[in-house]
Amino acid sequence: MMQIFIPLNFLGFVYREVKGSLANIEKMFDILDVKPAIADQQEAAHLAITEGAITFDDVHFGYSPDREILKGVSFSIAPKQKVAIVGASGAGKSTLFKLLFRFYDVTGGRILIDGQDIREVSQDSLRRAIGVVPQDTVLFNQSILENVRYGRVDARDDEVMAAIRHAQLHRFIEQLPEGVNTMVGERGLKLSGGEKQRVAIARALLKHPPIMVFDEATSSLDSHSEQGILEALQEISREQTTLVIAHRLSTVVDADMILVMEQGTIVEQGSHRELVAANGHYSALWRMQQSERNVESVAAQAAAQ
Ligand code: ATP
Repeated sequence: MMQIFIPLNFLGFVYREVKGSLANIEKMFDILDVKPAIADQQEAAHLAITEGAITFDDVHFGYSPDREILKGVSFSIAPKQKVAIVGASGAGKSTLFKLLFRFYDVTGGRILIDGQDIREVSQDSLRRAIGVVPQDTVLFNQSILENVRYGRVDARDDEVMAAIRHAQLHRFIEQLPEGVNTMVGERGLKLSGGEKQRVAIARALLKHPPIMVFDEATSSLDSHSEQGILEALQEISREQTTLVIAHRLSTVVDADMILVMEQGTIVEQGSHRELVAANGHYSALWRMQQSERNVESVAAQAAAQ
């Protein structure tokens, strides 16, 4: 019974991951509407990951020929770096992720992973190498333990538990009546946005891909959840090359590199300190977010009184 249950369940998961989490990349990503006809080259090679270095080399792209969205994007990410991508809505941040997954092919330039053009490797090997933490995670009507195990269905319980700890979920779980066996999802316990994102992080840690893309939730998190996510993200980015579409100052500040996008181009790149000193786009964004934060904290203090 179990043997039948797992594969069927897993197939359901794969379907929902494509419809769900990849679709989340695509709420993130909208892939279901625009399923692109990307085919592997004949005898496409298997992507050989040595370190997890990523290069965008003069990348051009448009969803339609009459509107170019990425207009010559170049950057290099060293292995195991944590890179934050910031910029206004519509700047092209999610489009970078979609191209990295090869949901679409670039119209000019190239994307390399460890020196290999991603058009020349099989899509299967490419997508296996990349883990996704979407903004909004699909949870199944199962226990937390099983929900996390979807990251790698053959993982042992102790491996799942280790991922749960690294994703900073254990303190939350300790408070639940049935611990990791508590049912979650539609008919179970409803998790907050921050808790759901930590389940996604635990799944990703269990999968342990060399490259991780993280679409940080825009929804407001309480400071406890934010801290938990931050610690979990630090855990991921210690061992893996990590790209984050970042909305929070706390994520941006400690990134090895920040890419600032505006209307399809990278207008600035550097560390937080370098970019603040440059007094350009990023520093303006930073000042704006900081003043928003100040307003929020004054409002929170007023509400608490
Ligand atoms: P946000 O922060 O709002 O998610 P973003 O910086 O991630 O924005 P993208 O989602 O990459 O921006 O979108 C860049 C541009 O491409 C936008 O003008 C958007 O309307 C357009 N675009 C995105 N997806 C598609 C699509 N599937 N078909 C056509 N145009 C698209």
